[in-house]
Amino acid sequence: CGIVGYIGDKSAQEVIIGGLRKLEYRGYDSAGIAVLNEQGLQMDKAQGRLAVLEDRLESQPLGGFMGIGHTRWATHGKPSDENSHPHLDEKGDFAVVHNGIIENFMPIKEELLKKGYTFTSETDTEVIAHLLADMYDGDIVSTARKAVQRMRGAYALGIMTKHEPDKLVAIRLASPLVVGIGERESFIGSDIPAILEHTRDVYILNEGEMAVLSRDGVELFDVETGKKVERDVFHVEWDL
Ligand code: GLU
Repeated sequence: CGIVGYIGDKSAQEVIIGGLRKLEYRGYDSAGIAVLNEQGLQMDKAQGRLAVLEDRLESQPLGGFMGIGHTRWATHGKPSDENSHPHLDEKGDFAVVHNGIIENFMPIKEELLKKGYTFTSETDTEVIAHLLADMYDGDIVSTARKAVQRMRGAYALGIMTKHEPDKLVAIRLASPLVVGIGERESFIGSDIPAILEHTRDVYILNEGEMAVLSRDGVELFDVETGKKVERDVFHVEWDL
């Protein structure tokens, strides 16, 4: 339902939770966050109000310099802690948050089950995490691109891996997504209000586009061709 992502020098946890709070109006049944910090890739997620997660994070902060967060509106699998996003692969190296539906997740799940992967949720989303781990070629951008080309449906994704701590990937297929450009920091939001507190300079992703975010800026690519896309920065003039 709602996606926020961050890479930069602030606390990823604080930026992401702040952004998710701005998305609360959309409605949701659970919330979660994954960050990369000094300990590696860490996650916390819980069914219920964002406050449930926030309370826990207060006693056990994750901090982080890069991360992705999500508020879920369940479509596949009941609202529960396990079905909340982010979803990780078995080793906990890849994390994904997802808005929308992967229509052909069943055949992909069956294929991964045959290969011996263990699933911990009932969601359509979890296939993405295992697929990324299975297809990883050392480059999260090309891996994500290839993985997404196998998936049908309407979705927006935020993806990260502990193997590449300087890259955050955002992908849009028929579910809105924007990326924000800051000073030595970059943002993902499922809508502008989620990141407006931090930057007014955004790229609005078109269908079938992916963004690669780093501290140094944002690059856009066409998912199908892999070619770089040039886009004018959109400067947001309005206030919340
Ligand atoms: N289909 C996913 C799920 O049920 C994502 C739902 C959403 O957009 O929040 O977990």
